[in-house]
Amino acid sequence: MTGTDHPGIELLTAVARGVLDLTAAPPSTFRLPYPSSLQLALDRVVLDALLRRAPAPRSVPDLLSWCRGRAPEEWLSLPGDFLVPGSRLIHPDAGEPTRTCAELASLGPDGVLEQEAQSLLARLSDSCGGPARFAQCRDFLIDRPVLLRFDPMELLQPSLAHTWRLVKDLYGPVPSHFPSEGLVHCCSGCGLLAEADTGDGPWCEGGCAPEVRKLETSHRPGQTRVLPLALRLFLALPGRTELKVRAHLGTRSGPLVTALGVHQIPAHDGVARAYQVQDREQPVPAALRAAEVAAALDVRLDVVVPDDRAANPVYRRAFEWALPAGAQVRLRSVSEFAAHVPTDGTRRDHA
Ligand SMILES: [Zn+2]
Repeated sequence: MTGTDHPGIELLTAVARGVLDLTAAPPSTFRLPYPSSLQLALDRVVLDALLRRAPAPRSVPDLLSWCRGRAPEEWLSLPGDFLVPGSRLIHPDAGEPTRTCAELASLGPDGVLEQEAQSLLARLSDSCGGPARFAQCRDFLIDRPVLLRFDPMELLQPSLAHTWRLVKDLYGPVPSHFPSEGLVHCCSGCGLLAEADTGDGPWCEGGCAPEVRKLETSHRPGQTRVLPLALRLFLALPGRTELKVRAHLGTRSGPLVTALGVHQIPAHDGVARAYQVQDREQPVPAALRAAEVAAALDVRLDVVVPDDRAANPVYRRAFEWALPAGAQVRLRSVSEFAAHVPTDGTRRDHA
């Protein structure tokens, strides 16, 4: 069991936040000065290396090169097995922050990215005026993280217009580093942004396996609208699995209770239970975040992950090992969860 207050982990999360800040910076500020968070992270990495008499990066570009070419445990002092072997903060081929980077940036009291998604959804919930409308809007965002060929007329049809008016401000232009040679790509597997040629084949934000990664392409990047990275990775990506879980459970899936995507399930023996669908590549940070969520909501939380991820015994073992003592969290695959949701006669409306 490892807490987020471990100095190596805390430093790693700070570097991850710096990398994301650099990616989010407008092109004109991409070179110098670097985001202060990244510069400060470099200073801390250098000091840490000096204290450990270990090699230190000489500059921000050097640190970014390490994030891309070396696993974090090669240049930071981290607990054993904290990260999946071979992890990187920057994808070696695509040059984009990895999902690992996003997950680490969300970890601990200074976490930013998942928290940004939560904040955006909380604001949306406030503007919706009721849980049913919010759930409708949230499902719209899950279905459409990338509007590759944005057509305002389509979204102003009577069946969509009300929802679109509530969510439209969450969409922005495609990030400037994504269009390549006038083309922008979207992966039909995860619904997120993609690159067609990274030097090692296609890449997509959702990390789809090659057999399910099919790219749709637009020649007009100016017409593409996308959700912020926080909502792409922490709402839309797990949302695809969540929609399947809810469809399978039907009325056994309780209502949505928070902007974090936590759903109630029928009480069993008078004990409040809830579930949250996750799709994350790092089991240890996932477990630590789940424990934070369960503690904040004071519920027993089932974390539901895609079957193929749960089928990986290393992932499951690492998740369970990382849970703090007493954490009210249990890892379930989609299939396990669907088979074991309590049916005590309590019927609720689908969220
Ligand atoms: Zn994909």
